[in-house]
Amino acid sequence: MVNKKMVMIPGPTPVTKSIQDQMGREIQAFGDPRFVNDYKQLIDELGTLLNCSGITFPLAGTGTLAMEMSLSNVTKRGDNILIISHGYFGDRFAEIAERKGLKTDVMHSEWGKIVPVEDIESKLREKHYAAITVSHVDTSTGVLAPIAEIGDMMKRFPDTLFIVDGVAATGGEYTDVDRMNIDILFTGSQKAFGVCPGMFILWASKKALLRRKELGIIPEYYVDFEKWIPIMENPAMYFATPAVNLVWAMLEATHIIMNEGYKARAERHIKNARAMQKALTSLGFTILAEESHRASTLSNLVYPNGLDDAKFRGSLYEEGITVAGGLAQYAGRMFRLGHMGNIDMNDEVAVLGVIERALASCGRDIEFGSSIGIYFSEMSK
Ligand SMILES: *Cc1c(COP(=O)(O)O)cnc(C)c1O
Repeated sequence: MVNKKMVMIPGPTPVTKSIQDQMGREIQAFGDPRFVNDYKQLIDELGTLLNCSGITFPLAGTGTLAMEMSLSNVTKRGDNILIISHGYFGDRFAEIAERKGLKTDVMHSEWGKIVPVEDIESKLREKHYAAITVSHVDTSTGVLAPIAEIGDMMKRFPDTLFIVDGVAATGGEYTDVDRMNIDILFTGSQKAFGVCPGMFILWASKKALLRRKELGIIPEYYVDFEKWIPIMENPAMYFATPAVNLVWAMLEATHIIMNEGYKARAERHIKNARAMQKALTSLGFTILAEESHRASTLSNLVYPNGLDDAKFRGSLYEEGITVAGGLAQYAGRMFRLGHMGNIDMNDEVAVLGVIERALASCGRDIEFGSSIGIYFSEMSK
């Protein structure tokens, strides 16, 4: 019998049956009062879930489009911007900013570490920045940025907007837009919300909306806040076609989070991640991110000496589990395992079992079940 296939990359993540069912529903016109009502409900509930008193934009597009949308609406050509990069996605933000003609300063951390908050503060004292960007979790390194602490520090720089890339975090790592002093937060449907790819959600604070107004006409069209605000306030209006089935799927995913409770869900992510990380280290992998800044949504596992990336991941794939490879300087030296969204203990145990079998088929000396024992004893603490 062929093993069940599991997609354990850091997005797309497994999509549960009730969410799949929403994707498979018969289409409705975007002006159908039933759909308008569902879209309105999604916008309102997502705003409440993330405690955003500004406007929430759930739109068709991916996380990268949300990155563009965030910069387009609060900066103009020639503005200074500070990018905090904890890896590949921080660097992507710098590339987008440069193309937009922003005067871009990038603070890099060594992979696995964070840029200390004090260093960010000193940099902000050097000159005026229109905005600063931080990835909540950088998927290339599995590093978790101290968003709440940075948000607190940003209160001393009220003219600099705080943009958070929550694509591999929001819905898994706890986030509160207003309390964390975030001006723009965004995520993609396919990560910790556990929905198919194709939608992003962007939360904008009142301050971000005000900044957008001050800019007048901006060059971008599809991602312009001003174009979308009337639709977010009344989804019976048209600007560009909403991704109807993704709206339903996101609504179901949002209800799953609300029923679990966002705080409880974030705590579950932390507990599961610590258990997975302990189990995986026992098999010889090293976690790239420093312990104090480790994401709960994924693990970036550096190989023990002599383990071949292609052979190991190939063997996992044959057994039914897809994981992601390392990026940039970690290509071939690491694999990335997503453990976010709507997955449970049984899924995680299955993954550990397959990893043990793959290691054995790569010639490693493995005591079968050992990592699963460690996982269970951590989970029962
Ligand atoms: C996945 C990811 C993105 C890009 O999202 P896409 O949906 O692939 O465009 C951006 N930032 C982070 C941190 C991510 O993990």
